[in-house]
Amino acid sequence: MTEVLDHWIAGRPDAGSSDRTGPVYDPALGEVAREVRYGSAADVDRAVAVAKEAFASWGRTSIARRQQVLFGFRERLNARKDELAAILTSEHGKVLSDAAGEVARGLEVVEFACAMPHLAKGAFSQNVSTDVDVYSVKEPLGVVGIISPFNFPAMVPMWFFPIALATGNTVVLKPSEKDPSVANWMAALLKESGLPDGVFNVVHGDKEAVDALLVNPDVASVSFVGSTPIARYVYETGTAHGKRVQALGGAKNHMLVLPDADLDLVADSAVNAGFGSAGERCMAISVVVAVEPVADELIEKIRDRMGKLVTGDGRRSCDMGPLITREHRDKVAGYIDVATQDGATVVVDGRDVQPDGAADGFWLGPTLIDKVPTSSTVYTDEIFGPVLSVVRVASYADGVELINAGPYGNGTAIFTNDGGAARRFQREVEVGMVGINVPIPVPVAYHSFGGWKASLFGDAKAYGPQGVDFFTREKAVTSRWLDPSHGGINLGFPQNS
Ligand code: NAD
Repeated sequence: MTEVLDHWIAGRPDAGSSDRTGPVYDPALGEVAREVRYGSAADVDRAVAVAKEAFASWGRTSIARRQQVLFGFRERLNARKDELAAILTSEHGKVLSDAAGEVARGLEVVEFACAMPHLAKGAFSQNVSTDVDVYSVKEPLGVVGIISPFNFPAMVPMWFFPIALATGNTVVLKPSEKDPSVANWMAALLKESGLPDGVFNVVHGDKEAVDALLVNPDVASVSFVGSTPIARYVYETGTAHGKRVQALGGAKNHMLVLPDADLDLVADSAVNAGFGSAGERCMAISVVVAVEPVADELIEKIRDRMGKLVTGDGRRSCDMGPLITREHRDKVAGYIDVATQDGATVVVDGRDVQPDGAADGFWLGPTLIDKVPTSSTVYTDEIFGPVLSVVRVASYADGVELINAGPYGNGTAIFTNDGGAARRFQREVEVGMVGINVPIPVPVAYHSFGGWKASLFGDAKAYGPQGVDFFTREKAVTSRWLDPSHGGINLGFPQNS
């Protein structure tokens, strides 16, 4: 009988009230590994009620106690990270080393959150007026919702929940239904680390569960990561229901290559950032913008490197795993046909791949397409697969204009040996995260992560200082302790003296 993954509510697995389920694949085998429950609105409401009840004490638990839980979680996760990476690979497909890298980047945020006593300190101004002090404190919001995408099932929830928990909030997480198991694994580890039951809950599912979170009046905030149309919807619906919302959306990341760049470094970076995790990263490079005359030489170097990549089962020693589902694999492969129809040149066709893995896996090899017209959907759509496009431009200015004309603004990179050009690019490009000779500029945990334009709806980026602000609200207190000389009636607006 197929295993069914339950929700996690009030510190234990919970079957919920709905009998809807969906398949979870092992993408390298192309087989259904298990089913996952799809929560109903009633399941979400119950999880929120449990989290609300837990907030009454967790929100007032001492900082020291919360830190002990976070430190405990950090230690346990570090000791067992290979176990988590293996679960992740079996449901997502990314190769084991990449899964371990994902866990490590999530751990960075846990470590950041361990410094919460310092990060969430308020400010104190003594004697702002005679015998009057003013201080500000950061308080938790209450119950916070997190909705995460399939491509980073461990790291993206960890962008949010360590900070949410450390600041005293309680959590309802709705993970991607495509690779849901790591969420329950992390929930059990939090419990083992001493987190009280009900503080961290997981409700699996699809739109029904998401919608229930967005309208529940006891959910104070929503942190969403996923595709742009859903991010926009979540932002508009959540804010219309009075919630604080940060909704991170899709991307189309360009790498601008100037003629003076080190083309070997560029080729290595383009291959790593284009095909790592089979291109299913929001910070993947999907377009190389080559300032002529570099394109021909660069394409040769990229093609050479692509020839050495092994696509296959992530549990073997391969470079690149399968795509998440057969449907997604076919959609991505469809863009290779479109490229030919639109007059582009397919330099390497991933449909010809010979995978090191089971015949039914969702395979698509690394694909390189040159001379992609900017009117083609190969250029305009977020493909989210191992397809790297090359667009040739005549100058730096043309390259920046192209990048800035796009609807997304998640990540970008410039490759050059000219510091002045790099500095100018950093100023002129309208993108939230910029790499200078670095292809995937994901900021470390103590700087915040987020794009511009259609890559982020809402004012707060993820983690870092903006994450702390997002999960807290500030209270400013003006206090006076009376001494015997006080007194007097004054109906004027308070002035300091
Ligand atoms: P997705 O938008 O399909 O799903 C994200 C979440 O929304 C999932 O939990 C899913 O169950 C839920 N969802 C799906 N359809 C919904 C609907 N109609 N109504 C309400 N909720 C719905 O995204 P995905 O395919 O899981 O992930 C890939 C996308 O996420 C890409 O676009 C990628 O760029 C983006 N992403 C962005 C970032 C970032 O930081 N900007 C990071 C990772 C992924």
